[in-house]
Amino acid sequence: MKEERPNNSRPIISYLVFVVIIMLLSNAFLFPRILNNQVEEVAYTTMLDMLENGKDGAKVVQASLDDENRTLVFMTENPTTTERRLYQTNIWPNDTTLLSRLTEAGVEISVEIPTQANPLISFLVSWLLPIVIFMALGQLILPRIMNGAGGQNVLSLGKSNAKIYIESQTGKTFADVAGQDEAKEALKEIVSYLHDGDCYKAIGAKLPKGALLVGPPGTGKTLLAKAVAWEAGVPFFSISGSEFVEMFVGMGAAKVRDLFKQATEKAPCIVFIDEIDTIGKKRDGAGGISGGNDEREQTLNQLLAEMDGFDAAKGVVILAATNRPEILDPALLRPGRFDRRIPVELPDLQGRIAILNVHAKDVRFEDHIDMAAIARATSGASGAELANIINEAALRAVREGRERVGQADLMESVETVIAGYQRKNAVISDREKRIIAYHEIGHALVAAKQKNAAPVTKITIIPRTSGALGYTMQVEEDEKVLMSREDAMIELTTLTGGRSAEEVVFGSVTSGASNDIEKATRLARAMITRYGMSKQFDMVALETVTNQYLGGDTSLACSAETSSLIDREVNDTIREAHEKALSILHDNRDKLDELAEYLLDRETITGEEFMAILNRPANLEGSEPPKLNA
Ligand code: ADP
Ligand code: MG
Ligand code: ZN
Repeated sequence: MKEERPNNSRPIISYLVFVVIIMLLSNAFLFPRILNNQVEEVAYTTMLDMLENGKDGAKVVQASLDDENRTLVFMTENPTTTERRLYQTNIWPNDTTLLSRLTEAGVEISVEIPTQANPLISFLVSWLLPIVIFMALGQLILPRIMNGAGGQNVLSLGKSNAKIYIESQTGKTFADVAGQDEAKEALKEIVSYLHDGDCYKAIGAKLPKGALLVGPPGTGKTLLAKAVAWEAGVPFFSISGSEFVEMFVGMGAAKVRDLFKQATEKAPCIVFIDEIDTIGKKRDGAGGISGGNDEREQTLNQLLAEMDGFDAAKGVVILAATNRPEILDPALLRPGRFDRRIPVELPDLQGRIAILNVHAKDVRFEDHIDMAAIARATSGASGAELANIINEAALRAVREGRERVGQADLMESVETVIAGYQRKNAVISDREKRIIAYHEIGHALVAAKQKNAAPVTKITIIPRTSGALGYTMQVEEDEKVLMSREDAMIELTTLTGGRSAEEVVFGSVTSGASNDIEKATRLARAMITRYGMSKQFDMVALETVTNQYLGGDTSLACSAETSSLIDREVNDTIREAHEKALSILHDNRDKLDELAEYLLDRETITGEEFMAILNRPANLEGSEPPKLNA
């Protein structure tokens, strides 16, 4: 998003290079002409006359013929005053006697055109004059060049380098932002205020000074801000929080001041501060001890002061974006500053379809592409990830020499974005492959044998660059917004299914389940500490989420005794799930073996193949595997 800021010294250097080139060129072409202008053109007969009789006492002393013998340049010299003059004449084509006449008259014939009479003047004209001219020009032009390049003059460090993107430069409209209807609605109000503020003023309504876009990374916050700028058609100052934080002490505050000064001059306009959390962090009371924070706090204080100081009626709207709203200083969020909070959440199913379609617009697809299927398989993906999926699919089609993108490209790129590229030449021993196959079938079988579990859509044991050795994809038929305790237990049981299969079949365990263990622990813990699904505790918040948009760290909010009780219950919950998974696999041992063999053979199987084998009656076992998508 951010455009490169040109280096400060670059304009000066390029200016100097420019000057030198111009000087060399003018010495080669321009000045000789200027000097030649002092050459007087005379008729051929006049020249002959001058050759014989001289002119005003001066005699021809030197002459030069051009290559084609068409023109003659010659110089006269007055023996008493030593004044020299240059003349030029066109030679008559049929005059063959010219050369002998010249030599007779004692004229020196030279190859070069005779030089200018006064070498000092010639030097002045060709070297000193241009230097003076360019120095004068430089004074006038240099500051403009440097400003024009968007660069910072070395002497104006404190100036904000907020870039003004005016209308045409953001190039994004609300149509480019798919889904996010509520956020767009809220922002449209701001746009309409900037367009015609009068009807708002007439009724006495004031628009919020600032709006804060909050949401996980890649959901389109920056994109929305750009769309607002375009739709409003007003100047758009965009600066990133990290740009305020500079190595020069005190500069952050100066930049804020300058930014607001510029904005007030350009009103109505929009000021967009991206990643505001870098400057808007809560100020700690420590003061002085953590000296490194002083700079940041000064910047924040300046921002708070400026936001109070300007008059919203002028039409300066401040937008900011962050994915860590909880660390912002409360002073920033109080009414009169960023009093409106616009959530920009991860897209739901409809939103994902819309985003995929927006990004698919410029891509050539085969007919019959099912975007809904892709959207269903990407629950929890952000807009940025979806954009990436479309692009990866297009890249894959090019790699394989096709002219259109197909459904298979899209499915493969979903997996690429989720799990990384296939590691086709990873070397894995047969024994380990077997373990991995059983592990994945374990997950799938445990899922399939529980009611209401999400259907399995794909199982693969091709390793990925993310480190996954294989995985089982499940896709919910309808997107859920709520998770019941039963759902959570089903998921826990499925997560433990992989390890359980290893235990049932090989009687030992491997490190391959570490990712499952992590996920299961997080889920079981959340059930107890945050969702109130525990047996011993009531609706008590035992943990709080600190940054919900960035992975969701939690912090304990209970006593040490409670904490150890939590640990025990987490353990019990997971054990319950683990035991259930073990019993499911024991009961279906034959299917486990059959499916694992099939997967080992194929490396990747679809949900339909999986279900076909699973549902095949026992008396048919041992016959040919089903022919599906073979
Ligand atoms: P952030 O919320 O982190 O600022 P961005 O606005 O930078 O996210 O989004 C990154 C990219 O993801 C955008 O340039 C766009 O291509 C894509 N994207 C994200 N959300 C959407 C959306 N709702 N509609 C269309 N594209 C989106
Ligand atoms: Mg952003
Ligand atoms: Zn697993």
